[in-house]
Parts: sequence; C-alpha cells; structure tokens
Amino acid sequence: MTMMYQPNPYPAPVIEQGSQPFWEAAKEGKFLIKYCKSCNQPHWYPRTLCPFCFGETDWKEASGKGEIYTLSVMQRGNPNPYCIAYVKLDEGVTMMTQIVDCDLESLKIGMKVKLVFKPTEGDGPPVPMFTPI
Ligand SMILES: [Zn+2]
Repeated sequence: MTMMYQPNPYPAPVIEQGSQPFWEAAKEGKFLIKYCKSCNQPHWYPRTLCPFCFGETDWKEASGKGEIYTLSVMQRGNPNPYCIAYVKLDEGVTMMTQIVDCDLESLKIGMKVKLVFKPTEGDGPPVPMFTPI
C-alpha cells in the first residue's frame, strides 16, 4: 500500500518575537537560517544570540537542501499519516520538520531532500517542509 501525504493547508505557525524576518522571507519563497556574526557558525532554530559563543546573529538565505537524519511516520489511528523528521541541512544544522509530497513508506535515513514551502490557514505564512529530491 502506498501512503501519500495529504492535508492542506497546515495550521498557521506561531510567530515568535524576533522571527518575523524569517516568515517575511518565507512569503517570498526564501528560506533563512541564522549565522553568528562572530564565529560564523549557523544554527537552528533562529536565536538572537549565538548558541556557541553568545555573539550576535544575522539572517542568511540557506540552500534548502539536506538529508534525512532520522524520521518517524505517524500513522496509527491517523487517517492522514505524516512524517516527522530531523533534516540535516547542507549548512550543517539539523531541524525538525515534516517530509511531504511523497510515499511515506519509501523514506529512508540519509535520503536527500529539498525544501518546499507549504501554505497555512488564513493569513499565515508558508511553513518550511521537505520532500525527497
Ligand atoms: Zn558564535
């Protein structure tokens, strides 16, 4: 049996203080991650201060490419199964996300994925998810 991912739209994200630039960019189809101005390391989720050296941080556009680090398909008793995964971006940071637009049973750790923005309810900005390349 093939399990296709279905539901749209997704719930609108909660816009936390300081994350507005991320969601504004998302509306333009850009995926931003934060880099430290002092040590140049990227991190996820976006923070005001670098988690490594407490330096100031700045937004930069990311490639949107990465690979599945670990995954879990939520299917028991769920009419719309979905996949929660940790994706390691090419930039080196790992983020929790969903893998969409694919046969969930075909997903494997180490699979290459790329970013897709998915619309959310109401006026919500699109949310970043990933799909196999
Ligand atoms: Zn730093």
